[in-house]
Amino acid sequence: MPPSNPDPTDAELVDSFPYVQVDHDTKHFYRGWLERRLLVNRCGDCGHWHHPPKPVCPQCLSGSLEPTEVSGRGVIHLSMLLHQGPRAPGVDYVAGPHPVVTVELEEQAALRITTTLVDGPEAAAIGTPVELTWIERHGSPFPAFRTRGS
Ligand SMILES: [Zn+2]
Repeated sequence: MPPSNPDPTDAELVDSFPYVQVDHDTKHFYRGWLERRLLVNRCGDCGHWHHPPKPVCPQCLSGSLEPTEVSGRGVIHLSMLLHQGPRAPGVDYVAGPHPVVTVELEEQAALRITTTLVDGPEAAAIGTPVELTWIERHGSPFPAFRTRGS
């Protein structure tokens, strides 16, 4: 479902994600969430990807950064099961541990994003192929991963 406002102002963007820090460096990343697109900064000079967003390329220090949509495919690099933690929509620590996974994206070695896995804790094994999916938190899209066949 498309967002009700396809071109939000910076203030509206901040209001959409009260639980994260939206600033000059991260606003393109979170604007992508509203469109259910995972946008990762790519350097216009050397082609290096980096995440989380920084003001300059960590590889060559160029300020020519382009928020670029990634495929969403990757492999679980690190896996944690939270038995307690902050409250979040859809997270029920009583029903079972909440999986948190760091996924290495296929675009580049060591390009990693940390979020949850919708398949549940038993599927969160290191090395498992996954793909991007979207869930909803606080009324706004939130990126997550699901397992896929290799
Ligand atoms: Zn660069």
